[in-house]
Amino acid sequence: MSVNYAAGLSPYADKGVCGLPEVFDSPEELKTKVETLAQLIKESQYLVVHSGAGISTSTGIPDFRGPKGVWTLEEKGESPHFDTTFEDARPSVTHMALLGLQRAGCLKYLISQNVDGLHVRSGFPRDLLSELHGNMFVEECEKCGRQYVREKAIGVMGLKPTGRHCDVVRSRGLRACRGKLISTILDWEDALPDKDLNRAEEASRRADLALTLGTSLQIKPSGDLPLLTKRKGGKLAIVNLQPTKHDKHAHLRIHSYVDDVMKQLMELLGLDIPKWEGPTLCESSNGAATDAKPPRAVPEKKTKVKREPTKGERKRDAPALTDDGSVKEETASVKRERADSPVQLKEEK
Ligand SMILES: [Zn+2]
Repeated sequence: MSVNYAAGLSPYADKGVCGLPEVFDSPEELKTKVETLAQLIKESQYLVVHSGAGISTSTGIPDFRGPKGVWTLEEKGESPHFDTTFEDARPSVTHMALLGLQRAGCLKYLISQNVDGLHVRSGFPRDLLSELHGNMFVEECEKCGRQYVREKAIGVMGLKPTGRHCDVVRSRGLRACRGKLISTILDWEDALPDKDLNRAEEASRRADLALTLGTSLQIKPSGDLPLLTKRKGGKLAIVNLQPTKHDKHAHLRIHSYVDDVMKQLMELLGLDIPKWEGPTLCESSNGAATDAKPPRAVPEKKTKVKREPTKGERKRDAPALTDDGSVKEETASVKRERADSPVQLKEEK
């Protein structure tokens, strides 16, 4: 599928500040700053990373507000350039470095605004990841909430039906759920997924260090989550070429390509960047998930998507659903694996 997913969204007026000039630190500045970042990470007990479209531009997927971003070009009446498809895009150095940081125990939680699915396809454990705006490769049962991670991009946006149905077996194997599967990709006015947002907020409050990578932090509420960390006494480090909305709150600001920053950072931390060996799915960071256990259908109350036609931001529904802390059964239809033994993504027949 073409990566021009933005073309599938509704027309929308307020896309934030686009096309701000990029800033580059000198090589010496960059070195000093990455050393500071490495020190912050060594001292931190709970690091949360927030990723945006800027971490995927090196894979050929355009960002939104960069000089060649989708919305920047749209303002000029031009079309963005696409070098890849979602299926062909390979995780960047940054995606893989984040996986390395997680495996080393340095990174505790990852929050992404990206819909390109590259964190999941890199093998990052899904139980340590919130994808706040959805995932091109994930469809979800609107009845029981089961999510299916597919090998191909779903191709449907705006939480609309994909034409497939849920095959979770319930009632002691007598019949399948058969709920409609819907896209997980948010359109402008759609509410954020409750579970992902709740976990992201919880992690942001718990964090003593928030690191943002490749995001201008303009979209709410995603872009404001790092401020929760700051409010609780934690530190904020921002890596972005353009200025961001929350630069003034940052303890450290690095202006460079994220891949360069992550390469230097991993070297300073003495950590390897894992090699990508094809699309990989990891449901659980502790390896507890196994194929042997049949999926359990958990009835789940779905939040209704509320349209808020006059608001200029992506917003969650209010009030939020009360979360009893129970984790929704989220069995992918691909082989589940341990964090340390990635497998190729394969769909069950
Ligand atoms: Zn279902």
